[in-house]
Amino acid sequence: MAETGKQTGDTLHRRGLMFILSSPSGAGKTTIARMLLQHDAAIRMSVSVTTRPMRPGEVDGQDYIFVDQARFDEMVEQELFLEWATVFGHSYGTPKAQVKAGLREGQDFLFDIDWQGTQQLYQKLETDVVRVFLLPPSIDELRRRLTGRGTDAADVIASRMDRARGEISHWDGYDYVVVNDDVALCFAKVQQILAAERMKRARQTGLIGFVRGLMAD
Ligand code: ADP
Ligand code: 5GP
Repeated sequence: MAETGKQTGDTLHRRGLMFILSSPSGAGKTTIARMLLQHDAAIRMSVSVTTRPMRPGEVDGQDYIFVDQARFDEMVEQELFLEWATVFGHSYGTPKAQVKAGLREGQDFLFDIDWQGTQQLYQKLETDVVRVFLLPPSIDELRRRLTGRGTDAADVIASRMDRARGEISHWDGYDYVVVNDDVALCFAKVQQILAAERMKRARQTGLIGFVRGLMAD
């Protein structure tokens, strides 16, 4: 079967999906995203472009593509972004090129973007988008996580906490909402969502030919 290029029931071609993980800053989307990328070879991170300064431990081209404001503005003008937004005074954008081609080939992409970017992607590519929102178990725990992460100065943490309530209020713009209390449990739920979404009929573009074959046999 494989020699003829014929699709089997296990290898039906499907369109890739855009798996969006959002949360108020500190609720754990980077943690869950890293776990997903480690355990699932079929999904790739969509690396965003940002003007914010690099944090210790971050790698240019891997965590973000770090650019200055002039270059970012140029990219906006050249329409190189699927979406872009200003978050905490810095610009963030999703590059268009790799995602559009990848989806056709069946590549899944993971997005760590905020609610503004989620809305824009949904408006443009609704059927490809799966929107997952993570909530912290409590506001106190959110503060503990932001402080414990040790990557931001006190004033940055204070501003992230100020914005947390605003971000949480966008929970109803998502298809799935998961409380990130126990990290292993949260991760298992996110994996289940991804597995089910991959099996949606509309994404299985190889089904039509497969079913025709079934009927003809
Ligand atoms: P975000 O990407 O949403 O800003 P992070 O993934 O960086 O958040 O998580 C913030 C901090 O909280 C990190 O130090 C991370 O290790 C920790 N963390 C994430 N999920 C949990 C969890 N379920 N329980 C306890 N700590 C967590
Ligand atoms: P951080 O600076 O903590 O990495 O990210 C700050 C916020 O920007 C997070 O809420 C993150 O989801 C969001 N973000 C990161 N990349 C993008 C992007 O390309 N587009 C949009 N709209 N938001 C992004």
